[in-house]
Amino acid sequence: MSFKDIFCQDKAISLIQQGYASGRLAHAFIFAGIEGVGKFKTARELGKLLLCKEPVIKNGFADSCGKCVSCEAFEAGTHPDFLHIYKELLEFTEDGKDKKTPKDLSIDVIREFVIKKVSIRPSLSEGKVFVISEGERLNKESQNALLKVLEEPPGYCTIILLCTQPENLFATIRSRCRIIRFGPIAEEKIIDRLHKTGLDKKRSQYFARLSGGSIGDACRWAELESRQAETKLYEICNQLVGELAGCRYADCLELADRFLKESRETGQLWSKINPQTSKTDVSRRTHKTFIRIIISVLRDCLILKVAAGGGLTNFAQEENIKKMSEKETAEQLCLKIGAAYRTMQCVDSNINEKLIFHPLLLKVTSSDTMFVLQSQLSDV
Ligand SMILES: [Zn+2]
Repeated sequence: MSFKDIFCQDKAISLIQQGYASGRLAHAFIFAGIEGVGKFKTARELGKLLLCKEPVIKNGFADSCGKCVSCEAFEAGTHPDFLHIYKELLEFTEDGKDKKTPKDLSIDVIREFVIKKVSIRPSLSEGKVFVISEGERLNKESQNALLKVLEEPPGYCTIILLCTQPENLFATIRSRCRIIRFGPIAEEKIIDRLHKTGLDKKRSQYFARLSGGSIGDACRWAELESRQAETKLYEICNQLVGELAGCRYADCLELADRFLKESRETGQLWSKINPQTSKTDVSRRTHKTFIRIIISVLRDCLILKVAAGGGLTNFAQEENIKKMSEKETAEQLCLKIGAAYRTMQCVDSNINEKLIFHPLLLKVTSSDTMFVLQSQLSDV
């Protein structure tokens, strides 16, 4: 793996390359962008390059050599100067034994795996690289602790924060970091990639559109699709979309049960395929996938309403979506999409799963007056 293998993030990589070539590469970065667009891969490659004993520079493009003792240790996952920090490390902190998978990136993790280690000089390479995943989960205490390191990082340290919502970080943290944006991946590129894994065109297009530019998510769904024995994810999505488009307010709780059931079952398969990912993270991701299906329906209705079609995610359900779209105003659809995104944020805060689909479907299937009432109730 090298910088050249990173998919479609040329702009972000060229900013890093410019900094490297000028000899004034920042000591702290925020890699900002939605999940699954290559932030971690890029941080890893930058780490590998910074730690490499004999970096190779060809036509102004720098990369690790892949052969030195540092690169070998890096590829083996044993490099002592590359530290990946993530919330689940809490279990390995002094008082962390048997603690549940945390919601936040706790101060104990930052203290033990960043602050304590920053002052220890590198042992194999000239530098030391810290990559902090899910920077948006740093709570106030952890941000304050991290800020102290960012104020005066030792010259040999590089800290890379990966973050989906950089606005959640203190302005004082943001101002001390070089922010590199990672944009969504173009639809055709994702389709192409999925198609190469053996997925047919129709499914590739569907998952690419549903992903909103996250190749990581699209590839995960494609993997689920290929591993499911009986009903495939694509069919499940299509059925749910058809039912949602024709759903009456009176039947919406039944449909919410179906969403929850399918989300749980998909999560179980996902856990089997990726046993190293925590169960909480898997269920958070599958719940978000199924909320995204609901958003895709509302978005398709809006496209039919204001843009007269084209580019529908649920192209196989166009007729049903047309009928649903006729019953809604554009304003109402926008409000419902907003409600769905807010539910997505609540999932990130680990709300009880019974409070996800039921309230959301009550809002999504409600009429004009009912929706206003629902919104007022949920704002109380
Ligand atoms: Zn090397």
